Parts: sequence; structure tokens; C-alpha cells
Amino acid sequence: MDQQRRLIDKLQETSQLAKEEWVALIQNRNQDAAQYLFEKARRLQHQYFGNKIYTRGLIEFTNYCKNDCYYCGIRRSNKKAQRYRLSREQIMECCQDGYGLGFRTFVLQGGEDGWFTQEALEELVDTIKTTYPDCAVTLSLGERSRESYEGLFRAGADRYLLRHETADEAHYESLHPKELSAERRKQCLWDLKEIGYQTGTGFMVGSPGQTPQHLAEDLLFIRELQPHMVGIGPFIPHHDTPFAAEKEGTVELTLFLTGLLRLMLPKALLPATTALGTIDPSGREKAILAGANVVMPNLSPTSVRKKYELYDNKICTGDEAAECRNCLNQRMEKIGYQLITDRGDYGCNCSKG
Ligand code: SAH
Repeated sequence: MDQQRRLIDKLQETSQLAKEEWVALIQNRNQDAAQYLFEKARRLQHQYFGNKIYTRGLIEFTNYCKNDCYYCGIRRSNKKAQRYRLSREQIMECCQDGYGLGFRTFVLQGGEDGWFTQEALEELVDTIKTTYPDCAVTLSLGERSRESYEGLFRAGADRYLLRHETADEAHYESLHPKELSAERRKQCLWDLKEIGYQTGTGFMVGSPGQTPQHLAEDLLFIRELQPHMVGIGPFIPHHDTPFAAEKEGTVELTLFLTGLLRLMLPKALLPATTALGTIDPSGREKAILAGANVVMPNLSPTSVRKKYELYDNKICTGDEAAECRNCLNQRMEKIGYQLITDRGDYGCNCSKG
């Protein structure tokens, strides 16, 4: 049997590989290996989740950000970004619409915006949880102190998404200004896990300067962290950032990594990301068929959608939440899957316990 298949078998049996093995698997990947991998990934996905796809309603509630990440369209140095903040009433309206459409998880995502104080955020989480006690609240607010994460958890937040972006310190420095570090980012993730959040990490695929060695380090870090969720999507340049002229990541590598993640973390929640749907019209369907099991349609008011522009040509910026939901419903049904109304917590969703 060839080396690729042997490594894929080993990954499935032991849930891990050594760094050189990850590098070899990624570097020498080919179509045959990908098909072999995706079949295994789908088998695990079916074993644990059947044909069910979980949905999370994404509310992009502010695009103000104090950070200056070189890849991101809402970085503070982008003076052309039209900034907005949703009011508490607007956010609650998004939840109301979302609830009516069957969403039982609300994801509050934004730039690192100090205008929303700790107190205001805790109040917001509390209001959502009190109004919708059967829903999960996921936060994606970037790096905060341990105390802040603890306070938000006490206020009722269930989950937190914070991609580590790249596990390699030097690569991290090439993507971020010097006040940000991979070490700090990873520490936040360890804190979140310890506090008790269902924790999600992830990274961009094909970010400038990324090598198979970096990806191997990402997979080793994820193996160590044992997150509940992992979001990966291709890097896509934004025209008003220092990386405007860089190449975007590929669908092919993103799918391959999705398959590897499903084998390494069989029960994990893996989203088919909007970024993947942006570089390929059927990218999200392909991700599901490579092992992903979550979609995160947008619930933000259409008036602000275009302004939350992390990268160019982001899809679904003109559609109402209901349209997004219907569109995804149809897309999933076409490939034999079904969107479901369920909180979709880690571990509780498995047909196998
Ligand atoms: N500020 C929050 C959440 C918003 S950014 C945080 O730091 O977590 C959400 C994710 O979008 C980032 O983690 C990054 O991986 C991704 N992203 C940002 N710019 C991107 C780009 N140009 N292409 C693809 N993904 C990007």
C-alpha cells in the first residue's frame, strides 16, 4: 500500500501523527489520497452525526477593531472601512429573527471593540440567555483577559471561537504587528478551555508564507489542545490591506485539511466556512463531503453585511437571514444532508454518545 494511504490509516487508528508524517502527508498529497481520506472522513461523520448538519446564526455586531492584523479587512489601519456597531436592540432583533428560523445557537462575532465594555457584554449575554434559555451563545471577540472570559462564562456564554491562526511563532509574527503573539493567542485558548467553554480554534489555509511544516505544527497544536470546534478557511486577500497582492488559499488544500481534522477529532464540530464558499460556489458542499458538519449563515442586518468585510467578495452579503437559511437548506439536501434545529453541543449530538 502506498505511503499516503498508510499515513491516513495510521492517523485514523491513533488520532495522531509525528511532525514529519504530517509534513509528508500534506506535501505529497494527491487525488487518490484525498478520495481515500474523504471516504473515511464521511464514514466517521455519518457514524457520529448521521446526515445532520448543525447551524449557527452568526451576528457580526461590530467591525471596529483595535488590532491591525495584516490580512484582515477590518484592521484599524484600514481607514476606508465603514465602521458600524449594532445596538443591543438590533442584536436582539437578529436573535428573534434567527430563533424564528430555527437557530438555537447565536454566535456574536466582532472586532476587538472596547466600546462594548465587559459589563455591557455580560448584560448582552445574560439578556440573550434569559430570552432564549434553550439556545447556546457562542462568543468570538478575540483576545481578552482570563477574568473577562470568566465573567462572560458566568453571564451564560457557552462557547468561544478564537482561531490560533498559525501555531508557528515566526509565521505568526509575519502575519501580525509586534504587539500580538502566538504564545498569547494560545494562552487564551488554554484559558477558555479551562474555564469550561466549548472551545473552537482554527487557522487560515494558504496564508502568506505558510508551509507544510507550519500546517504540521497547526495540527500538532490542535491535537494537544483537543478543541471542540475547528474552523478553517482559505486566506483571501482584502484590497485595502498589506496583503492585497498575496495569493489566496486553495479549495483543494482546505478540503484535504478538513478531512484530516475529521480523522484526528472524529466528534469535533467542523464548519464549512463562508470563505470556502467565497472562492468556490460549491465550496461549502465540498467541505461537508470532506467531513465538515456545521454551517454558520449570517443573521446580521443586511444594511451592515457588506461592511463586515474581512476579505474581498464575501458571499451572502445581500441576502436576508431567511434567504440564507433556505439557500443552505437546499444546498445540503442536494448532497443528501439535512440542516437541523438543535443546539448541537459537543458530544451531545452523537448518535453514539
Ligand atoms: N476579532 C475576532 C473575530 C473576527 S475575525 C478574532 O480575532 O477572533 C474571524 C476570523 O476571520 C479570523 O480568526 C481569521 O482567521 C479570519 N480572517 C480574517 N481575515 C481573513 C482573510 N483575509 N481571509 C480569510 N480569513 C480571514
